[in-house]
Amino acid sequence: MSDLELMTCTRRSLRLLPAACGRLYISANGKDEPAPWEGRAACRGCAIGARNAGRPVERLAEAAGELQRICTRCHAPAPRQIQGRWCVSCYNRHLEALKGVNAKGGRPQLLDRLHRVRVAAMVDRRRVPAAGPVVDVLEAMIAAARKAKNGAAFGAAPTVAWGRGQQELCL
Ligand SMILES: [Zn+2]
Repeated sequence: MSDLELMTCTRRSLRLLPAACGRLYISANGKDEPAPWEGRAACRGCAIGARNAGRPVERLAEAAGELQRICTRCHAPAPRQIQGRWCVSCYNRHLEALKGVNAKGGRPQLLDRLHRVRVAAMVDRRRVPAAGPVVDVLEAMIAAARKAKNGAAFGAAPTVAWGRGQQELCL
């Protein structure tokens, strides 16, 4: 690809010059971090943007960036996230579940799916605290791994009961 040939950015659904892509990457990955609703927020941690900017591609940051772009519960792309976890729809269903009643006055179906899971989670070599009820273990793992800067590891939680003052490992 020549420098004057337009490329397609799948993150932002636009065509632009590689040099412009690189400039957007630098703008989005510096001290002036974009707000979630800004278009350049999609440039955070982008490996293609890093390459076009002549910056080293950080594979782990790229993976964490991809996880930050999706809803932890439904895994759909979610440019706007509530509490840094959920798309608007999942958050609204979550609120209904907490109230025990949905907008139509019925029992939220989500109540049948929410539960606590036991997963030993280490993110950046530190144990991760509880993240509340989730619909499945994947939601808990995505919620933890998307914060990783240096790596995340998961395993089965110990089957022993937790004593008072011990670090909570259950997500
Ligand atoms: Zn969602």
